Amino acid sequence: LRNEMEITFDAVSVNEAFARVAVAAFVTPLNPTMEEISDIKTAVSEAVTNAIIHGYDSELWQGDCQEEKNQVYLRCVIEDDVLEVEVRDTGKGIEDIEQAMEPLFTTKPELDRSGMGFAFMEAFMDDLEVESRPGCGTVVLMKK
Ligand code: ATP
Ligand code: MG
Repeated sequence: LRNEMEITFDAVSVNEAFARVAVAAFVTPLNPTMEEISDIKTAVSEAVTNAIIHGYDSELWQGDCQEEKNQVYLRCVIEDDVLEVEVRDTGKGIEDIEQAMEPLFTTKPELDRSGMGFAFMEAFMDDLEVESRPGCGTVVLMKK
């Protein structure tokens, strides 16, 4: 069975909860354990939060690849009992992905960020890939 969904939503923090609940609901047919649901929700939250606070760190980001407004694109595919989640933004992008993915690395210490988002995504999912173009945006691909 293959199943796919895509949601686009405004890059505002109230939508972090919406995104993680939407993904949790989407995986229900796979009969996930409570722990698996919790892992997936955490990872989705981290990726969506990053898109909102880092990707679009100004009210109206004006980048080369920007759409009309700050939006987050969430796509999920279930295939052969594997969930693939893609979280994409058209925000400012990441200059050095390797450095960004190091535990405790953050560019926003003043906002009480601990630099653990990518480490959580990596720990709670089975696979994590990050692609980014400075000035154009970031794509986070996760599998479980
Ligand atoms: P925490 O997630 O613990 O609150 P954090 O968001 O700074 O802190 P990570 O989620 O690991 O930590 O991200 C590390 C760094 O990668 C961020 O500080 C930011 O500089 C960069 N980053 C992550 N996601 C994006 C994104 N979507 N767009 C631009 N930069 C990003
Ligand atoms: Mg983060």
